[in-house]
Amino acid sequence: MKQKKIFNQDHRTILKRSGIILQTLNDEEIINIINQPMYVSMISDDKLIEFLRVANALYRGGKPIISDADYDSIFLAELKKRNPKHEFLTSVEPEAAFEGAKVDLPVPMLSTEKKTSKKEILFWLEGIEKSATDIGLNVNELRVHVTPKLDGFAAYDDGRCLYTRGDGRRGTDISRVFSRGLAVAGGKRGRGAGEIVVDKEYFEKYLSDHFENTRNFQSSIIREKTLDPYVDEAIKEKAALFFPFSEMPSWEGSIDELRNRFEGITEEVWNYVTYDVDGIIFEVTDIRLKEYMGSTSHHHRWQIAYKTNMEKAIVKVISVKPQTSRSGRVTPVAELEPTKLSGVTISRATAHHYAMVKEKGIGPGAIIELVRSGMVIPKIERVITRAKPDIPDKCPSCGSHLIWDTDNLICTKVGHCPAQIINTIEHFFKTLRNVDGFGLATIDKLFENGVKTIYDIYMLKEDDFKGFGFGEKQSQNLVSELLRSRTQSLEDWRFLAAFGVHRLGHVSCEHLLQHVHLDNIFELTSEDITRKKIFAKKTAEIILKGLQDIRNEFERVKKLGFNLERTKLFSELRKEGAISPITGKQIIFTGAMKHGKREEMEKEARLLGAKIAKSVTGRTDFLVTGEDVGIKKIETAEKKGVRVITELEYLDMIRGYIKK
Ligand SMILES: [Zn+2]
Repeated sequence: MKQKKIFNQDHRTILKRSGIILQTLNDEEIINIINQPMYVSMISDDKLIEFLRVANALYRGGKPIISDADYDSIFLAELKKRNPKHEFLTSVEPEAAFEGAKVDLPVPMLSTEKKTSKKEILFWLEGIEKSATDIGLNVNELRVHVTPKLDGFAAYDDGRCLYTRGDGRRGTDISRVFSRGLAVAGGKRGRGAGEIVVDKEYFEKYLSDHFENTRNFQSSIIREKTLDPYVDEAIKEKAALFFPFSEMPSWEGSIDELRNRFEGITEEVWNYVTYDVDGIIFEVTDIRLKEYMGSTSHHHRWQIAYKTNMEKAIVKVISVKPQTSRSGRVTPVAELEPTKLSGVTISRATAHHYAMVKEKGIGPGAIIELVRSGMVIPKIERVITRAKPDIPDKCPSCGSHLIWDTDNLICTKVGHCPAQIINTIEHFFKTLRNVDGFGLATIDKLFENGVKTIYDIYMLKEDDFKGFGFGEKQSQNLVSELLRSRTQSLEDWRFLAAFGVHRLGHVSCEHLLQHVHLDNIFELTSEDITRKKIFAKKTAEIILKGLQDIRNEFERVKKLGFNLERTKLFSELRKEGAISPITGKQIIFTGAMKHGKREEMEKEARLLGAKIAKSVTGRTDFLVTGEDVGIKKIETAEKKGVRVITELEYLDMIRGYIKK
């Protein structure tokens, strides 16, 4: 087995900055341990501790050498087995990989005690009840506070400075992140401990090609050097932010409620936020009880974290197949020996890009470790046995020569590559949503018959479809569906989104069209976009290039005549004096509405300039509640400073602004 040198100069720099000097280990041994984790049972205690310290510092420095799961389940577990009372286990895990002044923390930041089973949490609850009884509190009146445990970078904000957790007592001043524009959830500084996090979906979409993991990304926000343009962008888009715990949505209830509905509550809380979550935190709220229970040097006794074990499987790779996306990026898809994981049979997994396939040796016969947690698509966590990877040099679809663009292989035959064309057309009809029958099978068949553009599809007559081998009935249907998609009313932002310009998803399209009329988008310049603060500069440039690429096709398709509903411009609303109280506000509708279908109310709110969201965050302005809304949902929203209003209050608010 060829061993990879994943321990490199970057790692040495981080260790040096963290003040770690290798004493019992050397580079070669570190590489050996990383490559063969089982080797750990044979090393001395000193080496084990040193390896843990090294792994910890590198993890915090943004260059992890082993996965979180391995750190816990192999290395930390080995130490616990050998010496459960070792000071490494009881002290707060150290961190010191960042430059900046070392300062005493205003309040010590302790770790949270972690448990991995429901049984252990129930046992902790019993202890709570016992302590409460000890000091004469009524057990039935106790409240437990439950919040998601963010998997970000822990820091403390005293309103003046932001500190890393450091060793729990002394941290590093990293206030520079705020001068870099990092936003605070809830908008207020000085809210104490929290985490620097990045929106999961945003990370997957825009950052995962550039950063191996979110940990890596979080470190580059903090690190003292020129800010990476992608990081800068994410900060400007508020996809990355500092999230104080006090702003976190939470569930609160009695110990009995928690016992009775443990699974339901933990699942609910897990999904409160759109950031990486690696557990659930339970804590008691009664101050007297907190004082009585106190803390160890490591954690508070009145607080506990529940980390469910992620399911893992060791699987053999059968082959890795390239797939060309509509943008020309070639994605590696690993075909696996079918394996059961979290109750689902998995036979495919994606590797991020071909650079990863090459670097990690993901080839036919490789043995990999697969991890699946919650709803996340399985990802390749670790390669146990490498195999020679197949790196394609030709596009699997058009056979043209592929080129490397940083970590990705790209097919550059835009407009000629079948996969790109077919996926583009599929995206168009999928996004319009008002046309049936144009799935991949139909589009494939049309492509075979030389119909390669959206415009050409709209030009087809019933006889053309029949000539291509579609049945009589189906041909009729396809023609009437195409007609329907042009006559039925369609939001103009949706129409634009259907062309799949990179960085112009649904929300961005709507946002863009609130500033610029659809007819004028091709005249936009990068200066216009940044001056009007529509998008940050880098996004603007990507979007403008993408718009030029679709321009011809867009203009001729639009000329076919679609029944487009124009997005209201902000300037128009203002001019008409019709700027509504909800313009620019983020609104969530929940529960059954009386006024109309929820979807229609959302549409109406959009016409009035509001942004519609689905889950409550610190950025939400109004939660409009219909019938059957749980009290918890309301309390959670109120706690976050969200205005909770009834449907009637909402209607009063927008009365006079509704334009029919
Ligand atoms: Zn191609």
